[in-house]
Amino acid sequence: SIYGDYIKSVIRTVPDWPQPGVNFRDITPLLQNSAAFRKLIDSFVHRYQELDLDAIAAIDARGFIVGAPLAYELGCSFVPVRKKGKLPFRTISETYTLEYGEAEVELHSDAFKPGDRILIVDDLIATGGTMLAAAKLISRSGGQVVETATIVDLPDLGGSARIHEAGYNVFAVCS
Ligand code: IMP
Repeated sequence: SIYGDYIKSVIRTVPDWPQPGVNFRDITPLLQNSAAFRKLIDSFVHRYQELDLDAIAAIDARGFIVGAPLAYELGCSFVPVRKKGKLPFRTISETYTLEYGEAEVELHSDAFKPGDRILIVDDLIATGGTMLAAAKLISRSGGQVVETATIVDLPDLGGSARIHEAGYNVFAVCS
């Protein structure tokens, strides 16, 4: 993407966090840098401004940081996809497998209209489990998933390929 190399340069890698052997990609230096944060949001705006989206579905919690300014700028609605137990109204949910155990994402059943054009955003795709669960949830609710978008893709983990094989477009600002 246009600012991909620059955005990559302001993401920090924290070794051995949250556990030994994991290299955690930390976007807080990017968020601290107002010029970088603006370029990040602008890369998404540039890609999606002509696509007539109805809603940005953002994944709890770092997806919200990108999703909210994008929804504001594109003039479409903001839909939170949350971790289990956070949404107060009627929900539908999708369970997915983690390395150890299971996780669940939820969506309000009235979050959008059938056929609405939806972009899903998150900060990072690793195994792709979270993004794929969100995409299945939106599809099951009658939404049209125009694309799934992330700041960072970790292609070695195969997540973006897996999402693509399931029939969804994937866009990453950097890899
Ligand atoms: P996946 O489901 O394995 O693709 O993991 C992606 C989810 O875990 C996203 O919601 C990310 O916020 C989070 N995540 C996993 N690894 C990292 C990382 O290195 N940095 C930031 N978030 C991560």
